[in-house]
Amino acid sequence: MSNIVAIVGRPNVGKSTLYNRLTESRKAIVDDLSGVTRDRHYGLAEWTNRTFTVVDTGGYVANSEDLFETAIREQVLIAIEEATVILFIADVTTGPTDLDDSIADMLRRSNKPVFVVANKVDNNQLLSETHIFYSFGLGDIYPISSMTGSGTGELLDEVVKHFPEDVPEGSNLPKYAIVGRPNVGKSSLINALTGQDRNIVTPIAGTTRDSIHIHYNQYGHEFMLIDTAGLRKKTKVKENIEFYSVMRTIKALEEADVTILMIDAVEGIESQDINIFHLAEKNKKGVVILVNKWDMIEKNHKTTKVFEEQIKQKISPFTDVPIVFTSVTEKQRIFKAIEAASKVYENKTKKIPTSKVNEVMLPIIESYPPPSLKGKYVKIKYITQLNGSSPIFAFFCNLPQYIKEPYKRFLENKLREHFDFSGVPIQIYFRQK
Ligand code: GDP
Ligand code: GDP
Repeated sequence: MSNIVAIVGRPNVGKSTLYNRLTESRKAIVDDLSGVTRDRHYGLAEWTNRTFTVVDTGGYVANSEDLFETAIREQVLIAIEEATVILFIADVTTGPTDLDDSIADMLRRSNKPVFVVANKVDNNQLLSETHIFYSFGLGDIYPISSMTGSGTGELLDEVVKHFPEDVPEGSNLPKYAIVGRPNVGKSSLINALTGQDRNIVTPIAGTTRDSIHIHYNQYGHEFMLIDTAGLRKKTKVKENIEFYSVMRTIKALEEADVTILMIDAVEGIESQDINIFHLAEKNKKGVVILVNKWDMIEKNHKTTKVFEEQIKQKISPFTDVPIVFTSVTEKQRIFKAIEAASKVYENKTKKIPTSKVNEVMLPIIESYPPPSLKGKYVKIKYITQLNGSSPIFAFFCNLPQYIKEPYKRFLENKLREHFDFSGVPIQIYFRQK
């Protein structure tokens, strides 16, 4: 189930400041990723145990002056269509402008939950001026200061009430989302997988209205494909094609068990690809990378190695991910890609018996124990894989707080070495025993 919170509004009202605050707050608590990519306009946030993706629409605004209003209006329409909740940001220091009013018009005609957020309410005096935004005709005003964070808690308390309950979806089949930048070959892949025999394509009724699920059952593999490419929208503004694609990608990714991330062999892995990769990782989704259009590359015996190295460097530290070099148009390694996705799904859902984990890991820990800290020695007593939709391991020990990141990574690597978790993010916790 996907929860997308879109931040809309004209420039300079504080969208990106709010975006940073909402996504950083999570980062401070749980983010253990280093080297977070710049230029992110979407990211994971958490409030009262609900996770959701925040999208800052401002990141996609067209540069040229004359397209500017069109671009913003179009983004609002896309947000209305794709988001779960919309935060409409206005600036209390300027009051409503014409552009604000025209955005409000569009939002009033939508069926989506809209929150009017009066930003830059840095003090109580400004608080009394927020009533002016009742003129939008969109109900309650939520005063906040993105700069100090005041009011954001009250806002989020209300926002999360609009998320659908996490009910399991119609089918128990594995769900694979095919994602990637426009033109990378997503539609071609879907056609190649389903085209030869139309009978295998059966859109399942009752599944989420906004994404297309395709039932695949062939050659011993059965799963649902979640298509982001199929529904393409005409947009007047170039930048919005990307914005639209990002919204669909986030949705598909959140619904999926495994993300099939297609990248273009000619263009190489780009920042947007890496952002999607990290989003999948943070959402604890399985990942397979397809380097498509491999037919376009001049190759020698080292080419795949070099490509693999380059990709791994960019997606580090989570590099234990299958990479398949495909040519959809030449029908090369398409089936291998499917097999890789199925394997990742298997890795993601398997449970290693506690006896087996201990048998393998305890001797390793014994010969390479956690380094002592301030004269304290950590003793790890036993390990168990907890139940969850992706692998979580609990290491029971006397002093959980004394185990640092490098040792945690060492343990993760050892788990990966001995049990195949290729393509799957692993969570490791240390618990007091
Ligand atoms: P965006 O264009 O809507 O993304 O707006 P930005 O987030 O870039 O913010 C525009 C300007 O408003 C920046 O100079 C911010 O520092 C400032 N700003 C954002 N939030 C607040 C706030 O809560 N209070 C004040 N005083 N300034 C803010
Ligand atoms: P989408 O936007 O990701 O759905 O991409 P499409 O499936 O529409 O493909 C975009 C273009 O790339 C089309 O012209 C495809 O024929 C072409 N294409 C897709 N896969 C390959 C491939 O493996 N090799 C080559 N040379 N072209 C491809």
